[in-house]
Amino acid sequence: MSDRYQGFVSSPIGKVLVKNLGLPSPTRLERYTEGAPLVAGTVLVGGTGRLVDSLPKVLDGLGIAALSADAEGTTYKGLVFDATGLTDPAQLVALQEFFTPLMRRLDSCPRVVVLGTTPATVTGPERITQRALEGFTRSLGKEIGRGGTVQVVYVAEGAESMLDSTLAFFLSPKSAYVSGQVVRVAARDGDSTQPAVPDLARPLAGKVALVTGASRGIGEAIARVLHRDGATVVGVDVPQAASELQSLMAELGGDHLCLDITHPDAPQRIAHHLAEHHGGVDVVVHNAGITRDRKLANMSEDRWSSVIAVNLLAPELITRALLDQGVINPNGRIIGVASIAGIAGNVGQTNYAASKAGVIGLVDSLADELEDQITVNAVAPGFIITQMTAAVPFATREVGQRLNALSQGGLPVDVAETIAWFASPGSSAVNGNVVRVCGQMMLGA
Ligand code: NAD
Repeated sequence: MSDRYQGFVSSPIGKVLVKNLGLPSPTRLERYTEGAPLVAGTVLVGGTGRLVDSLPKVLDGLGIAALSADAEGTTYKGLVFDATGLTDPAQLVALQEFFTPLMRRLDSCPRVVVLGTTPATVTGPERITQRALEGFTRSLGKEIGRGGTVQVVYVAEGAESMLDSTLAFFLSPKSAYVSGQVVRVAARDGDSTQPAVPDLARPLAGKVALVTGASRGIGEAIARVLHRDGATVVGVDVPQAASELQSLMAELGGDHLCLDITHPDAPQRIAHHLAEHHGGVDVVVHNAGITRDRKLANMSEDRWSSVIAVNLLAPELITRALLDQGVINPNGRIIGVASIAGIAGNVGQTNYAASKAGVIGLVDSLADELEDQITVNAVAPGFIITQMTAAVPFATREVGQRLNALSQGGLPVDVAETIAWFASPGSSAVNGNVVRVCGQMMLGA
């Protein structure tokens, strides 16, 4: 399932046509390879807030080469700007002063992270100023080009020392297809310490991860990435996918459960299996999902109910069973897979979009309730090249792939890497977020 357009525009004739017709010319995105340094270049840190002094130490701990002052002639792979010190809209000019001279000195696939203070936690001019950062970053994401990405990370007071895993993700090629996002990092219950991650290359060593719909597509990529990060993966899929599931889990040294997650016994069977065979679970990824598209005028009850049952009711009931029975370990992670359709809506997908918006509702409803540093977050993929999207008609697929700031579809691994960031034991302050993995799609903000 390759991107044929991208192959074409890289050809000699394609290059000529792109230039003369003004066609989109997607940059081949850099993606993380196991064992490589997180950042292949230099990161410049700027700004004047409550984070700027600690940032060089954080980046050093991640093995990222960073400068605190611009060195003439240096090109940068990443820029981090601490905007937490901006308290009045007139001070926003500091963004222009820092970024403008650097815009032509960025390496390929550059990463930009602006750090702010959660607007809802401050008042008056400071709140206005911090909110303004969203417009700045979303626009820069659309103009940076060359495979670059831009995010704003709002860091609540008290969470200053809990940024490592988030910076590691957003400064590295792991976030290749994530741009224009607004992320909140906040300490909970006054707890500003988070569990140490002894081995950055294998943050999930000793952890158990449940992945539903693990036999193919995005679920397979999630299983592979969580395994790379050290987890023992327990894959779940329908009995019809048993042989693919078994061989993948055998390859990854994991475990498998063949069941339909909508079966009334499924939550209990999963909870019992995890408790009996693995002593609990650390990461729960609700990835299994289906589409049964029809315009509402032609929607049968069966199409409606099957989509809601797989995509929304099953994650809700399985999560409830695992929580009620204490099967999710402290510092555990619950991760939903929503969709851009659940944010922007889509013709023919009232059932699917309702189910995926419901997944966002599940995150919202659980985020304040969870204890013991258990977090809940979701990804909302945009156009990801899988068997699911291969079924989309060619013309619709082409438009779907190009209508984003990176002018291309994402890969299953892009969703998986985002989930691995949520899953990290170092992400205990990342809670209640819905992060789109959509190359900053033009639809749905
Ligand atoms: P896919 O169809 O390739 O894989 C889905 C997996 O879920 C399959 O292995 C399937 O057997 C399993 N599954 C379905 N119903 C099940 C059930 N009742 N019990 C157990 N397993 C079941 O799809 P994908 O493209 O890899 O999508 C994975 C997730 O990402 C889905 O939730 C989907 O809605 C979401 N998503 C995908 C895209 C995309 O562009 N591909 C975009 C947005 C969201």
